[in-house]
Amino acid sequence: QLKGKTAIVTGSNSGIGLGMAKELAKAGADVVLNSYTDNEEDHQLAKEISEETGTSARYIQGDLSKGDQARRLVEQAGRCDILINNAGIQHVAPIDEFPAEKWDAIIAIMLSSAFHTTAVALPMMRKAGWGRVINLASAHGLTASPYKSAYVSAKHGVVGMTKVVALETAEEPITANAICPGYVMTPLVESQIPDTMKQYDMDRETAIREVLLKRQPSKEFATVEQLGGVATFLCSDAAAQITGTTISVDGGWTAL
Ligand code: NAD
Repeated sequence: QLKGKTAIVTGSNSGIGLGMAKELAKAGADVVLNSYTDNEEDHQLAKEISEETGTSARYIQGDLSKGDQARRLVEQAGRCDILINNAGIQHVAPIDEFPAEKWDAIIAIMLSSAFHTTAVALPMMRKAGWGRVINLASAHGLTASPYKSAYVSAKHGVVGMTKVVALETAEEPITANAICPGYVMTPLVESQIPDTMKQYDMDRETAIREVLLKRQPSKEFATVEQLGGVATFLCSDAAAQITGTTISVDGGWTAL
């Protein structure tokens, strides 16, 4: 289905990015993995995907907190039919205690990097005559929670930018959409548990049920495979007229 297409997935040496890269490779796409590290294991992940799917997978290092490195990632890939802006970090603190450098890093990695990669990828998509921009926003791109000022701001920004990209490409065979997951069990969520336990003075079990999954009516985490399936759907012909919108994968969170 996606044979001959190249998909760049930012922040894809773990979690949702890696899950989506694997699903796209299973659907036939050549994938480019990325993160800010350049370890043996990073390249090994790409090798495993190539071996398992018979597609070509590469790992390209790039620290997406830096605009020039975000642009270089896409330039170095040389082709980009599917761009998935997924890289992300989190920091949880009340706004008056929120470290300014964390604010800057979150906005840079999750919002500005998507601007830079999209700016370089769109001309490549236009040249190829087809393109899909898929931004990993969040339920926090549509709603808010206390103590997550930078994350909520960046994700709302990502949803806004997705709409602009969709309008700028509306008459072309290119779509831009945002996927808005509720909670998916990944290292990013795992790393929030200690802070949440401290903030609410709760044990791990209670923090998961009462705080993390409080607003997820299904009381289940989504899986990275499910998110990969949604990304693959957005790349299909059935989704050709879906553009400028958000797709929630949140167990009912935004229905509350
Ligand atoms: P994760 O921590 O497993 O993955 C984040 C990825 O981003 C990693 O590969 C990491 O190396 C990469 N990254 C971090 N800083 C980077 C940098 N400076 N340059 C390049 N790459 C960098 O987390 P995840 O849960 O898989 O999150 C992926 C995306 O999904 C994020 O944008 C996150 O906000 C979003 N999201 C996650 C959830 C969830 O419940 N896990 C829910 C909603 C949205």
